[in-house]
Amino acid sequence: MLVKIYDKEIEYEIDYRNIKYPRLEFKTGKLLLVLPRNYKDERKLIEKYKDWIYRKSLIIEEAKKKAKKKKIEKRSEEELKNIIEKLTKKFSKKLGVNINKIYFRRLKSKWGSCSNKGNLSFNILLKYLPYDLIKYVVFHEIVHLKERRHNKKFWEIISKEFKDYEKKEKDLLIYWFSIQELERQD
Ligand SMILES: [Zn+2]
Repeated sequence: MLVKIYDKEIEYEIDYRNIKYPRLEFKTGKLLLVLPRNYKDERKLIEKYKDWIYRKSLIIEEAKKKAKKKKIEKRSEEELKNIIEKLTKKFSKKLGVNINKIYFRRLKSKWGSCSNKGNLSFNILLKYLPYDLIKYVVFHEIVHLKERRHNKKFWEIISKEFKDYEKKEKDLLIYWFSIQELERQD
């Protein structure tokens, strides 16, 4: 579906769930409206948040432009797994958290995730990323075992290890589009 905000046509998808309140998400470049099952005023919701949506879409547009210039690493899945296992050991020790299991999957809209049982999942597409970004993603997920949400405390811990975490987050978005391009060509 499309909606026009100022000078931009913005694509969005709707996901109806058993929830009480609607929310908006930008999952790696796409606007998603998560709505309660009987929700009908999606246009009103979009109107209310149009400036936020517009700002986000500018960031994504910028990232897509930069995506073409990024260099993709050639690394095997085995190599990636080794790198991540080593980093996980190092960072879990440093942060004093226990990790249960590590999974490698093809995640559709994120680089990594963690469960409350202490399991970590990493996107196998991380193999295309520079080492310092892999390192950042691993650290980010392990910090989530201490702080579930992206709150102030979370970013405080992150910034102790990665002062340039904002740049890292931007680069991760740019690489996301680089890799989508690469996958299309295959
Ligand atoms: Zn996170």
